[in-house]
Amino acid sequence: MSLLEVKNISKFYGNIIALKDITTSVEAGRVTCVLGDNGAGKSTFIKILSGVHQHDEGQFLVEGQPVRFTSPRDALDRGIATVYQDLAMVPLMSVWRNFWLGSEPTVGVWPFKVVDQTTAKGIAVDELGKMGIDIRDPDQPVGTLSGGERQSVAIARAAYFGAKVLILDEPTSALGVKQSGVVLRYIVEARRRGLGVIFITHNPNHAWPVGDRFMILNRGRSMGDFDKSELDLTELTRLMAGGAELAQLQDELAEAMESTD
Ligand code: ADP
Repeated sequence: MSLLEVKNISKFYGNIIALKDITTSVEAGRVTCVLGDNGAGKSTFIKILSGVHQHDEGQFLVEGQPVRFTSPRDALDRGIATVYQDLAMVPLMSVWRNFWLGSEPTVGVWPFKVVDQTTAKGIAVDELGKMGIDIRDPDQPVGTLSGGERQSVAIARAAYFGAKVLILDEPTSALGVKQSGVVLRYIVEARRRGLGVIFITHNPNHAWPVGDRFMILNRGRSMGDFDKSELDLTELTRLMAGGAELAQLQDELAEAMESTD
């Protein structure tokens, strides 16, 4: 059974069609990539899955059960965690505090409860280690980590707190080549640990090496939902660029060039 499935879902903002008839699924230990240019409907799609918005048509199933989330808390309770590009992190706060963000284990009995720092730091270091991140000093401010590493703290936290589905919102779009590689490695690691990953991106070169499934959005509509065996990077890039539109643009530009010769 799929961890998460959407069948023909649509979303309208007034008379704007933000999404129309979108179908895809997310399996445990698999990466579903959602590709699309600006305005394609990627954010709208994430907002529906993460409980920020509700779909207007179609079906949204979590582990086979139809759901309709009314808040991000509902989605989290069903094991769907979203890591946003602008991370909810406090740069001057230590790595371990950012890992726990208020849910630290405690010792003692109320009113003498205090954070169990040794346990909290130990778990944070262990969990980050499982994602392949070697943090020597959990007391170092999270702001001293690289962009890729910071996202990995958020991913490790989500996994530790029971996420089954991890939604990554354009995790590589603000990063350079090397840092993007760091994030792609964490995606593979999350997959290896059995999480279902939804990787939102506009970069087919980032999606291709880590993806198992590819859903391409173009102006709110799906250009198809493919298994990796059904296409290749060239075809993915063509679909992503809106094939026919790109061909037309090339023709127009060629004509314009000729007319100035
Ligand atoms: P993407 O994340 O791929 O850039 P969005 O999901 O943000 O795309 O947008 C899809 C479409 O829905 C766009 O045409 C956008 O203008 C429109 N849209 C998004 N949010 C709203 C909103 N709150 N109200 C009206 N239109 C919206």
